[in-house]
Amino acid sequence: MQKMVILGATGSIGSSTLSVIESNPQAYGIYALVANTNVDKMVSLCEAHRPQVAHMVDSKAAVSLKERLPSELGIEVTTGEDQLLDIVSAACVDTVMAAIVGAAGLVPTLAAVKAGKRVLLANKESLVMSGRLFIEEMQRSGAKVLPVDSEHNAIFQALPESMQDNIGYCELEQAGVSHILLTGSGGPFLTSELDSLAAMTPDQACKHPNWSMGRKISVDSATMMNKGLEYIEARWLFNATDEQLKVVIHPQSVIHSMVQYLDGSVLAQMGNPDMRTPIAHCMAYPQRIHSGVEPLDFFKVGQLSFLEPDFNRFPCLALAMEACKQGQEATTVVNAANEISVQAFLDNRIKFTDIARVNEACLSQVAPQTLNSIEDILTLDLQSRRYAAEWVKKFN
Ligand code: NDP
Repeated sequence: MQKMVILGATGSIGSSTLSVIESNPQAYGIYALVANTNVDKMVSLCEAHRPQVAHMVDSKAAVSLKERLPSELGIEVTTGEDQLLDIVSAACVDTVMAAIVGAAGLVPTLAAVKAGKRVLLANKESLVMSGRLFIEEMQRSGAKVLPVDSEHNAIFQALPESMQDNIGYCELEQAGVSHILLTGSGGPFLTSELDSLAAMTPDQACKHPNWSMGRKISVDSATMMNKGLEYIEARWLFNATDEQLKVVIHPQSVIHSMVQYLDGSVLAQMGNPDMRTPIAHCMAYPQRIHSGVEPLDFFKVGQLSFLEPDFNRFPCLALAMEACKQGQEATTVVNAANEISVQAFLDNRIKFTDIARVNEACLSQVAPQTLNSIEDILTLDLQSRRYAAEWVKKFN
């Protein structure tokens, strides 16, 4: 039985992971569930799944959870950064699902990598921020990192086994790969009038046509910053150059990404848009298990279509691709700026179209610097958040 820690247990990926575990109770056990503030959800998850440890990053939430959990469950409630690092690196833990949203996921995810765990990577921000350091740490510790993001999971599945064993250090050309085709639906505003975008509300932005996700990533899908972050993530995971990476809009979200080979072959991974498929793939790899997802019905799908991305409609995608070209300091800045601008939009403090304006203002200020450690990255992340918050005030 694999013993798991679920970082971000109360979120969308956390729920899907717990659902896959419920479908395969003989194969997976839960050592710890980790969340930030959502005590109500954590109480019900603890009652249903009986982890050994329940960790709340927010200390007041931990006190409240301790009061509310029936003592007969025998669940240890913890809080604090050191305790969280102990949880992910505990000797009894085999697998860590890294599904905290945003930059907050970096430190615990990296700790799981350092401890040599099997890491199921949903938190794309870890790689966007720490790129090379993350990959080097992975090689040093021997951690097996498996990509949960549906696009990266699809690419992983379409690569030869020798490449799958060499994540972060693939030599794509040697494996006969010419391009990685990263697909994206284009989100809820793919066909909206351009001059209507400024007035779009958070609820409209979060209404993704195909996927059900947390609010931050839903807004990122509407701006296509999500695809931009995935582009950066793919650059690191598959050791890909700008020339090898292409973004393809595919509104039906049936193909989750593709690998194009030198001989003209294209391998695609398909399925219904449900995160339980890539999660189950990562949990069982190299085996296959039931995920609870309905089989894809091609007769219902009917048609698959493809478009080139329109950078006027999706300036955030262009910004992230530009940041990827510039280097790790730029990707760290754009990620931090985007977290601040998206939260400001969700709080109704700025317009939808201001998200890109804040991000662009921050990216244009990036000074070349070398990021040698996680501390350097976290310092730059914090500075960029402060800077983005100033821009938010200007647009408010
Ligand atoms: P949600 O917003 O649904 O959930 C976020 C989770 O992170 C919650 O458990 C939340 O806890 C926790 N969290 C938030 N802030 C902190 C913090 N400071 N410290 C510790 N925990 C925190 O997000 P998703 O599940 O949608 O996304 C999670 C990650 O997976 C993101 O990085 C996203 O990009 C990635 N991803 C998501 C996909 C999806 O379909 N949802 C697809 C591919 C990747 P609490 O509830 O207590 O606040």
